[in-house]
Amino acid sequence: MCETTKDRANGEISRNPTAAQDGFAVGCHYSGMTTRPLALVTGASSGIGRIFARQLAEGGYDLLLVARDAQRLADLSAELHGVGSRATPVIADLTTAGGQETAVEAIAAAGRLDLLVNNAGFGTKGQLADAAVARQHEMLQLHVVAVNRLTQAALQHMKPVRRGAIITVSSVASFVNSTGNVNYCATKAYQRSFSEGLALECEPLGIRVQALCPGFTLTEFHDRMSDDQHGRAPSWMWLDAHDVVRTSLQQIEARGPVICIPGTQYKVLVFLARHLPLWIKRLLTRDVYKRD
Ligand code: NAP
Repeated sequence: MCETTKDRANGEISRNPTAAQDGFAVGCHYSGMTTRPLALVTGASSGIGRIFARQLAEGGYDLLLVARDAQRLADLSAELHGVGSRATPVIADLTTAGGQETAVEAIAAAGRLDLLVNNAGFGTKGQLADAAVARQHEMLQLHVVAVNRLTQAALQHMKPVRRGAIITVSSVASFVNSTGNVNYCATKAYQRSFSEGLALECEPLGIRVQALCPGFTLTEFHDRMSDDQHGRAPSWMWLDAHDVVRTSLQQIEARGPVICIPGTQYKVLVFLARHLPLWIKRLLTRDVYKRD
């Protein structure tokens, strides 16, 4: 997260040239400072999280990469070392209290954090009455409890230095309710509301907050839940994860709005979701999010 000349503590800022060529500049080098900015990304082993890690590494960040898949994290760390980033795998199942503490301890061990990306998440298929109780509990742990725990840990390091940023990957699903998605929509709405409230507290502290709300994005997300949205949703609804992440980083760099909705089509859909009468919303979301 680059700072403006107004809020930097000391030293001159020069943008990372690679990042500038990419059209955004999240990486900064501070003269007089030997450390590079540090970001923690949850769910870094795949999809949107992996792209966050790559774009941040190219932007000059060192990284703490959190997920369960040790091999994928090791491979990604090696790849990011190749672009000069000190990337460290943190193997943790964030649905468990132990996994959440492992990630918190990684922040404490670093002693600093410039950017937290709460990204890890999953969806489930099927109505709540028939859903596996344990899996719904895991969703609440991952989307709600872990996000709160890691955000509190990050703030311990950001508040004293009055800088930093917290991005939480919510969803356009946070604006709707649909059958087969009860807890997914509800937990994504928590993440969005959490971010909007947190932004009020963080603005006077110089800490930026964003709720990233993508629509359908090409990742492993739908394959993992054995959901054939690729076949059902029209091609115009699919976003590229690179574009999603670039939009998020550009918006937070520019101190843009707390809610970040990549893609014009989703800006329109969210506007409709917020303003149309409930019965029309129900019709539309039933078509888009229908589940078995
Ligand atoms: P993805 O490719 O399936 O990636 C999910 C990531 O979350 C993986 O790195 C996975 O790593 C990690 N994860 C899952 N369970 C975890 C756990 N218990 N502990 C730690 N890490 C865990 O899906 P994605 O699309 O990139 O999803 C990223 C975020 O975007 C999610 O929050 C999702 O809700 C949101 N989103 C996705 C879409 C979409 O259409 N793709 C749309 C809107 C919002 P391991 O398996 O290695 O643990």
